[in-house]
Amino acid sequence: FNVAIDDLEQIGILGCGSSGVVRKVRHKHTGDVLALKVIQLNVEDQVRKQINQELRALYEASSEFVVKYHQAFYDSGAITIVMEYMDGGSLLQVLRDQGKVAEPYLAEISRQVLLGLRYLHKERRILHRDIKPSNLLVNHRGEVKITDFGVSGQLANSVSKCVSWVGTITYMSPERISGEKYGYDSDIWSLGLSLVELALGRFPYPPTEPGSTQEAQPIKLSFWDLLHYIVENPPPTLPSPQFSAEFRDFVSSCLQKEPDRRGKIGDLLAHPFLEKHKGDLRDLLIKRPEAEGPSGMDVDEAEAPV
Ligand code: ADP
Ligand code: MG
Repeated sequence: FNVAIDDLEQIGILGCGSSGVVRKVRHKHTGDVLALKVIQLNVEDQVRKQINQELRALYEASSEFVVKYHQAFYDSGAITIVMEYMDGGSLLQVLRDQGKVAEPYLAEISRQVLLGLRYLHKERRILHRDIKPSNLLVNHRGEVKITDFGVSGQLANSVSKCVSWVGTITYMSPERISGEKYGYDSDIWSLGLSLVELALGRFPYPPTEPGSTQEAQPIKLSFWDLLHYIVENPPPTLPSPQFSAEFRDFVSSCLQKEPDRRGKIGDLLAHPFLEKHKGDLRDLLIKRPEAEGPSGMDVDEAEAPV
């Protein structure tokens, strides 16, 4: 599978994130619908070589739990990635559409993301480094796939951020925030935090003010305060009885601040939480309030930012 950029025509915008715009494109000859991500960056030759090496790792990856990259290369000031199109969008979009994600779906999401992480960690020796709801994509076959994996410090540091500001959030593990050595366990922390966010319908830091009367008000934190808070305070938990004991135990295993005490992928895959529910993710997307077309997020080409 080799795609020439000239053979792709834009049919919509899928989203805008930390690194630029992701477009929905169609292959003029085959009719295949794909996603195209272009990241503008200007770097020296030395760095460029390194980035191309990193990108090779991306398109060599092949797992049903990881978004397929058909092309990934750096050339004349931009990284171009042609990848599998996921027609349900990201779990962040699902969260915005539906407010929350119910526990049975989260069990199935956990299972598939853990299988994707097991593939990246064990078979490719790739640390993801950026597990978060917007990097977990879903489709109408009920599949969840990990995207934006293996984007190393080198690449991430070179990218200038897109205009859309996401607020005071981070999925970085405490050891990574503290500048200590971090490894595969760090991705498990980010998964745990993503699950809590999807379950509660809000990013779990900062905590809500204890003892507040009406709707609990989140305390306002700057980004630096947030980093400090994560390192210094106990991890977020899920309230009982809204969530099952199995689910609460599962996230608490992912959200151990001490990386060595955090659940290992094999143990988490055997956790009773995943046994408890058999949620079919196809139902998750059926519930999406359908407003503006098949994927619910296409922007008219005429309005597309350049
Ligand atoms: P971020 O992950 O920080 O949100 P990205 O630029 O990686 O920023 O992606 C922006 C958005 O584009 C994502 O949140 C997602 O909704 C959408 N998106 C990215 N890749 C795909 C894809 N392969 N298929 C469908 N939608 C995608
Ligand atoms: Mg992303």
